[in-house]
Amino acid sequence: MTLNHLQQNEVISPSIIESDLFQSMIKSGFIVDSAFDELDDIKKRIGACKTRRDNLILTVVPTMSCNFACPYCFQHDRRDEFMNHDTRRNFIQFFRRLLEETAYENMKLVFFGGEPLIDKATIYNLSKELIGICDERQITYSAKIITNGFLVDDESSREMRELRIMEAQVTIDGVPETHNKRRSLRQAVAGSCDTYDTILENVNLLNAHGIFVHVRFNVDRENVHAIDDFVTTMAYRIHQHELVNLHLAPVMQLAERHKANQNLLTSQEFALHEVNFFRLCIENGFSHSLKSRYPSFRMCSAGNYHNYIVSPSGDLFQCVEDLSDERYAVGNVTQNEEDIIDFQAINAKKWRDYSILQDETCLHCKMLPFCVSECPRNRLYFGKKNCVDARIKLTELIKFFSQLDAPSLKNIFQGGNFNV
Ligand code: SF4
Ligand code: SF4
Repeated sequence: MTLNHLQQNEVISPSIIESDLFQSMIKSGFIVDSAFDELDDIKKRIGACKTRRDNLILTVVPTMSCNFACPYCFQHDRRDEFMNHDTRRNFIQFFRRLLEETAYENMKLVFFGGEPLIDKATIYNLSKELIGICDERQITYSAKIITNGFLVDDESSREMRELRIMEAQVTIDGVPETHNKRRSLRQAVAGSCDTYDTILENVNLLNAHGIFVHVRFNVDRENVHAIDDFVTTMAYRIHQHELVNLHLAPVMQLAERHKANQNLLTSQEFALHEVNFFRLCIENGFSHSLKSRYPSFRMCSAGNYHNYIVSPSGDLFQCVEDLSDERYAVGNVTQNEEDIIDFQAINAKKWRDYSILQDETCLHCKMLPFCVSECPRNRLYFGKKNCVDARIKLTELIKFFSQLDAPSLKNIFQGGNFNV
């Protein structure tokens, strides 16, 4: 069976309907029954995503300090802030208050920065305390770290594993020439220091300790030519492909205060490069890269009521991109609900009230299942909708799918994140 059957509205035989591929496409949301009320289903899923009380997601930023000086980073202006002992204590109290209010079943902790491994003590101390509290209350605990990967070593990998940090995200921006130029150490002259090899070896080290690694490649016009070499190099230098997900992300300008970047790719350009990237990933044995493209109703956690980002000073945010600006805070770990300051309450309400369903055009648009996963911040702060991106990406993706054979398609559709 190819996707052409579906495009031509042919009557599909029972054997095809019962096939693994067809059933996988139903599960991942690409095929729905014509009698199915998809809009009603989306409304229910969005409601459940925003309010679901079983999952608590906390992102902790131990420090804004970083050993790298990447030109596109949004945190340059808050370099040397660290979470002190009082804030750590207040954070634990804040966590206990959350547990008093809601009977969570799962707790997901993310360490973010700056470079979080600069402050290992905070990672270790907070992890141990949170694990203790969660175990006592029978709350399932899992953790992830977003790191540049340079400070990872055998000891820290082992300790992370012991602290139940089972996932890491690192960034490798292409091949050595493109990566070293932009992801250089803070004190080094750009391009004069090799961080590429160290990070790549550390991916293998993390994998050797059983930690799954998402390797992110931030792409713009300056390094886009390196996509093919990036994937093929990963293929022979990564030892455990099944523990690595390759991810291509466009460099973006998310706020006016960010340094203007003349090299940004247009949506069309990025979509074309991305399908080429998907093809290369599949050809080279990296099979996880397509999950985020399903009509999967996977909303950004920033729109979830039970999600907080905690800055080193204890300020609470909904989105990591706001971290360097306290004007966007929605509270502080020291505050009870009633102590919240006016501007924080306004920010919190804005995030709580956000829903793509408030937009009449989206409500009646066939692209809605894809756009549910759009960036809420883009719409809230800049009034930007996902229309152009969604249509271009979907068109390119469908063209790409139509070129694949049934076993490859089945592999792609099977890992879908459709259960929110
Ligand atoms: S709101 Fe947008 S920028 Fe913020 S975390 Fe979500 S997708 Fe990223
Ligand atoms: S394509 Fe545009 S109008 Fe349609 S759902 Fe997406 S954001 Fe809304």
